Amino acid sequence: MPTTLTQRKKTIADVTDWQDKRVFVRVDFNVPLDDHQAITDDTRIQAALPTLKFLIDKGAKLILASHLGRPKTGFDPKLSLKPVYERLQKLLPNTQITLAKEVYSADVEAAAKALKPGQILMLENTRFEAGEETNDPTLAKNFASLADIFVNDAFGAAHRAHASTEGIAHHVKIKVAGLLLDREITALSNVTQNPTKPFTAIIGGSKISSKIPVLETLIDKVDYLIIGGGMIFTFLKAQGFKVGSSLVEDQYMEIAKGLTLAAQKKNVNIILARDVVVTQSFAADAAFKLVNAEQIPDGWMGLDIGPLTVGDIEGVLRNSKTVLWNGPLGVFEFANFAKGTKRVAEYLGQLTQSGQVQSVLGGGDTVAAIEQFGIPVSQFTHVSTGGGASLEFIEGKILPGIACLDNA
Ligand code: ADP
Ligand code: MG
Repeated sequence: MPTTLTQRKKTIADVTDWQDKRVFVRVDFNVPLDDHQAITDDTRIQAALPTLKFLIDKGAKLILASHLGRPKTGFDPKLSLKPVYERLQKLLPNTQITLAKEVYSADVEAAAKALKPGQILMLENTRFEAGEETNDPTLAKNFASLADIFVNDAFGAAHRAHASTEGIAHHVKIKVAGLLLDREITALSNVTQNPTKPFTAIIGGSKISSKIPVLETLIDKVDYLIIGGGMIFTFLKAQGFKVGSSLVEDQYMEIAKGLTLAAQKKNVNIILARDVVVTQSFAADAAFKLVNAEQIPDGWMGLDIGPLTVGDIEGVLRNSKTVLWNGPLGVFEFANFAKGTKRVAEYLGQLTQSGQVQSVLGGGDTVAAIEQFGIPVSQFTHVSTGGGASLEFIEGKILPGIACLDNA
């Protein structure tokens, strides 16, 4: 396990003098927009408010930076931060906020210098600059020149070494974590490094290929490993069962076998589906039926776990003290195949609320599923705001946006 992960990082609470300081705050305002550039979910903006309010109250001058979507280089009105700026102004009605026309320019520099305590200058979408994603040192230095202190609160972008998430840290004296980033580090470290046992991981999603590192890391730590989603079928086929036309990655069958063997050696219980909901076509309204997971008929594909499997999973969760969940257990986007994921989510929420388990959820689609079901994230101990970042953290990777910060 890399030591940097256990290394605690300084946070904004460790810095005492903010008055009149210019602070470059990297946030994750990468919110979903509809076709008319209206924000459909402002969770990420809300999540940054505690850090922003903290700094405003202390008399700091804020330079805010975020990316939005995947623009090509140069200004793109469809991916301007304007709607984000307007929403933030509504959420902070007493704060003077200006949106810069560029990411970095002489005008931006002048506007940053003119800031008064408690005011915010928001830069345009950092990815309008080619140097953002290449972590160009010149752009990083330019960002650093705007401020005295770097605060990273963008957990969702912490797995990327970009100019505004990592490069800038090399050119400022003080670089610390914001409150959101700190909460993510604490929650994910607790569950991966110090879980109260029995410790159960639920790993689902579509492809085993994207979850191999996380499976390999967790097999050394968990007592129970619940496999869900599309990757079930690579495991089943590797054991010699017929999986019909279910999603299978043949080239990963050996890895699935290896993981099963490793689990046996380490006394880890792997829970695979006993029954699955199958259909003949991948569609929301396709007819479906329930079959034994070991006898999927030709031409049928498994898109959800069945009630017997849900029962097995509930039994394991009831006996667990810590649960880590990444990856939906079925194709939750279609109501007919969302039931397994929904039942397990509701049950885990109940167990958490009754104080029986600590639950940590991560993964873009996992969180989207919870939100689609209308289950409040407050039902769980921690729901990560980072999709790819949370997965990489759980894998034990060092996230550059965290590693670059001052050690506590
Ligand atoms: P996360 O973003 O939470 O890490 P993934 O991206 O790994 O999750 O996987 C999410 C996707 O997996 C969803 O789009 C879901 O439809 C798909 N999926 C789940 N179960 C199956 C299945 N049985 N067959 C095909 N796709 C599946
Ligand atoms: Mg995903």
